[in-house]
Amino acid sequence: MKVGIARERREGELRVAATPESVRQLRGIGLEVIVERGAGDAAGFPDGGYVDAGATLVDTLDLGELDVLAHVRPLDPETPAKLRAGAVTVGLGSPASELATVHALAEASTTSFALELVPRISRAQSMDALTSQSLISGYRCVLEAAMRLPRFFPLFMTAAGTIPPAKVLVLGAGVAGLQAIGTAKRLGARVSANDVRAASADEVRSMGGTFIDLDLAAADAAGGYAKELGEDRAELQRRLLAPHVAEADVLITTAAIPGRAAPRLVTAEMVAAMKPGSVIVDLAAETGGNVEGAVAGSDVPVPVAGGHGHVTIVGMKDAASRMPHDASKLYAKNVSNLIELLTHDGVIAPDFDDEVVAGACLTHDGEVRHQPTAQALA
Ligand code: NAD
Repeated sequence: MKVGIARERREGELRVAATPESVRQLRGIGLEVIVERGAGDAAGFPDGGYVDAGATLVDTLDLGELDVLAHVRPLDPETPAKLRAGAVTVGLGSPASELATVHALAEASTTSFALELVPRISRAQSMDALTSQSLISGYRCVLEAAMRLPRFFPLFMTAAGTIPPAKVLVLGAGVAGLQAIGTAKRLGARVSANDVRAASADEVRSMGGTFIDLDLAAADAAGGYAKELGEDRAELQRRLLAPHVAEADVLITTAAIPGRAAPRLVTAEMVAAMKPGSVIVDLAAETGGNVEGAVAGSDVPVPVAGGHGHVTIVGMKDAASRMPHDASKLYAKNVSNLIELLTHDGVIAPDFDDEVVAGACLTHDGEVRHQPTAQALA
């Protein structure tokens, strides 16, 4: 059966859904792999590596002959109609925002799997692209902050004087936030963090950060994810965070609620109360922003209160794609592991009694299987 690897076409997307290593895995379970020429170029995987791993190169994929189409970014709404009915797609689906594509996938009777929907259970960790890509984003956002900060991260005691360590505050300590804490610690900063999940205090400490306990009643969690705070508690959280934000040299925000706009944690007033030269990196800028004034893909200078100097708000966009080589390595492995789960004796035959297969399925047999998306489309 044929698995096609598309060259990503969305602007700014540099990752690829297969690497030579993942091609070897797919060949090993009896699948044929067809790669679009140049698909891995931007991520540092030249065509020759795919050929050596046993793939066939083509100028343009013939979508109608594929059994599986693997991709990174959600497909365009025009693509499903070009696939044969019953073909399988595996990749990021962004079902909450890509409703036209979900509709088209159902119309074309495509069996689509969205990696965001992979259940967060131990057995499925090797297919969890949200985790693998958050690891990259959390690391990268610290580097983006460090490059813009007009100061060191570490403590320096020199003959010419002592430089104190930078103070880094991380809001949202999930996978990306914990990686940001670890990275900032490795660079020598003094790191503190806050999250609304009860379990996060120990996780923050395990990465070397100081947990800021705001004494909000811990938000309930569902499937490992936080639930939205009511507006009164959200307002209390902002008020209690304000002095910590004002003290930080670097603020990194990663807070998210699945399927919702990012929670607003930092107001324009809180930004203006920071020290001149401070840097904010908002990893949630693409989903509405944790920080008022953040613009995805841009650096926004905000004058500090009193008018001398400014704070820079970095609205992160395509964070994982900025480190396309390692991001692709991890992503491609997530994809090949899911395809392997769908394959039995060399045949793609999804077993919907398997909770990982059922949970990750977005559309099948002309229906939208993911209930929240089905309701949004109704
Ligand atoms: P996420 O990207 O959905 O959210 C990032 C963080 O923002 C979360 O920790 C969340 O609690 C936090 N947040 C939400 N609202 C907030 C607010 N108002 N203030 C401060 N923080 C707020 O989450 P994620 O990184 O995908 O991970 C969430 C949890 O799932 C973590 O505990 C992680 O360890 C767990 N997880 C489990 C598995 C697994 O079991 N297979 C895999 C990955 C992650």
